[in-house]
Order: sequence, then structure tokens, then C-alpha cells
Amino acid sequence: MNKHRGTILIIGDTLDGKLSPGTKQLGSKAWQLADRLGCDAVGILCGHDLHVTANDWSEATGLSVIALENPQCRYPHPGLLAAMAAPLVSEFSAKAVCFPHAMRTCQAAAVLAWKLQAPCVTAVESITLQGNELILKRSQYEGRLIASQIIDRFPVMLTLMPGGIPGEPEMDRSSRSPAVEIRQPAIKDDRVTPLSVDRIAGRDQGLENALVIVSGGRGLGSAEHKQQLEKTAALFKNAAVGASRGACDLGWMPHSLQIGETGRTVAPALYLACGISGAPQHLAGMRESRTIVAINTDKRAAIRSIAHYFVQEDLNTFLPLLRDRHEKTFAKGETDEDQ
Ligand code: FAD
Repeated sequence: MNKHRGTILIIGDTLDGKLSPGTKQLGSKAWQLADRLGCDAVGILCGHDLHVTANDWSEATGLSVIALENPQCRYPHPGLLAAMAAPLVSEFSAKAVCFPHAMRTCQAAAVLAWKLQAPCVTAVESITLQGNELILKRSQYEGRLIASQIIDRFPVMLTLMPGGIPGEPEMDRSSRSPAVEIRQPAIKDDRVTPLSVDRIAGRDQGLENALVIVSGGRGLGSAEHKQQLEKTAALFKNAAVGASRGACDLGWMPHSLQIGETGRTVAPALYLACGISGAPQHLAGMRESRTIVAINTDKRAAIRSIAHYFVQEDLNTFLPLLRDRHEKTFAKGETDEDQ
């Protein structure tokens, strides 16, 4: 590795020794990002017993991976992660330290920035290099405005939204010769020790495994209208109902169905967003869906910017029509595969 070229450090997020979906996604785009910034790339993991995970990540991405291990990092600990990762920033002449965007990683990025007195930008949606400056774009006001920011001081700490790096994941890794290194740095800062992570009862994997997700937001108008979602989901073989935080906070839907930055991350073949405005925090959990159909009365809703199809209509009008059409089509004898 040519350290004089500068490096980007891709810091992965793990829980129970498994990579988060955002980490897998960011790792798969690591080389596009590195080329964009004219750098090499190195993956960093922090946790306990990471050997297998580090090898798998390296194999999947072509990244050399350094696993920082300590029993105190068995459970996620943004403060310790920042303390352990800080020395690597100067060791690798890092130009940028990139995290997949999530609550935990925002905390780690902020602590690391404070330690290094470096700039920190969270929820970055796109990056371009112009001369020696990075131009970063991020959404504001629930996606109604896009702010551009210039960074000319390095290293910079970034949390990256999914889908922010264009291009297909790199498939040809034959030119890379990645290595995995396990390090066990001493930890001086142990003021907080996480003791456990408890799973929320009743949370199954139905949403993550569904091919079709019919998701509802505040545009549902009331808890009763969630039936519209359930009846529509019943049209498809492997479908589930999801929700925005707006709908969950109102008590219309359980929080276990919340999709987004502080909820679940999904990537179904079809995502029907019904009455959801498309705040960046919601998009963070579903923008990798293969086909996104948004049903919204407001043609300026931010979700339109990522929807493949946009239906400007009241969901309480459109969804019954959709089901009706589906029934008539099937009454004519078309097969399920024609859907
Ligand atoms: P709204 O923004 O109110 O949008 C409702 C939409 O419905 C509007 O676009 C409206 O035009 C449309 N509409 C109204 N009536 C109809 C109708 N009859 N038919 C069709 N369309 C209609 N949000 C998440 O979803 N997931 C998260 O994980 C998440 N994490 C967050 C974390 C943080 C730290 C913060 C600050 C916020 C987070 N949020 C999250 C909240 C997020 O910012 C938005 O407030 C939320 O997503 C808005 O929910 P919504 O789209 O349902 O509601």
C-alpha cells in the first residue's frame, strides 16, 4: 500500500459479530469511493472475536481489514471505537474516515472528530472531489433542501448514507491482495462498559426477508387505514407491512415495523411507500429497494426523488383500485408469475 497517496478508512459497524447491512453496502462501494478521492482504502472493525467476520468482509470487498479486538467491545461502544481507531488515522495518513450512516456510527464519528480536532459531516448523500476540496451533499428539512458543503481540511470524518456512491460494486478484485490483521490495542478510557444488548421481543425477520413491502406513513390519516396496507400486502406471496417513524410515533403501527435510520434496513424487490414523505432518515432504511413505488398526494414530496414510479393520488383511493384491478386480472386467469 502506498501510504503517500493517502487512505480512506472504512469503519464497519458490527453487532453480535455480524456486519450491519450498511457496512456491507459501504464495503462493496469502498473502491469506487477510494478512486473518487484518489486514495487507497482499508477496512477497520472493532469488537470481539472478529477473525471470521474480518476475513469474510475482506474476501467480499477486496479490502485489507484491521480488526481491533477487546473484550470490552463485545457490545457496540462508540467511545471505545473512536479511542481505538484514532491512532490508525495518522498511521495510514487517512484523508477521510468513513462510517455507514447510523445512530451509533454518528456518535463514533463525532467523538473521533473531537479527539482529532477534525471536521465531521454526517448523513452525506454524495461526494465529489474538486481539486483539493471535497464537495459533500446532504439533505436538510426532511429532504426538502440539499445542502452542499466544501471540505478543505483533512482528515474528515464522514457518515455516508446508503446509495451515496454511484456505480456498481466492484466485481474484479484480482488486482488486490488484501490482508487481515488482528490487533489488541490497550484501552485507557473505560468509563462506560456496555453490559448487554437485549433483543426486542416479537421482532422477527419477516420484513428483511420479504420480497414486497407495503409501507405506510402519516399520510394514512388514522390507525384504521393500516388495513389498506395489510390488504394490499395480501396480494403478494412473500409480502410484509412496514411503517415510517411518523406512523409509529402516532401509535398507528408498532415500532418494530419502523423502517429507516433508527429502524430496520430493507431492500425488497418492490417497496410501496404509501403516504410517506421521504425524509432522509426513512430513505436510509429502504433506498436500496429494487423498485420503489410512492403513492402520495403531494407531487413535491421528497420520496419522488428516489421513486421509480410516483402515483400522485390519495392512498385510500389508489390502494382499493389497485386491489380491484388485481382481482379482475386474476379472475381472467392470469398466473401469479404475471404479477
Ligand atoms: P410526513 O413527513 O408527515 O409525511 C406524510 C406524507 O403523506 C406527506 O408527504 C403527505 O403529502 C402524504 N399524504 C398525506 N395524506 C395522504 C393521503 N391521503 N394519501 C397519500 N399521501 C398522503 N423516520 C423514519 O421513517 N424512520 C426512521 O428510522 C427515522 N429515524 C429518525 C431519526 C432521527 C434522529 C430523526 C430526527 C428523525 C427520524 N425519523 C425517522 C423521522 C423522519 O425525520 C420523519 O419525521 C418521518 O419519516 C416522517 O414520517 P412520514 O413520512 O410518515 O410523515
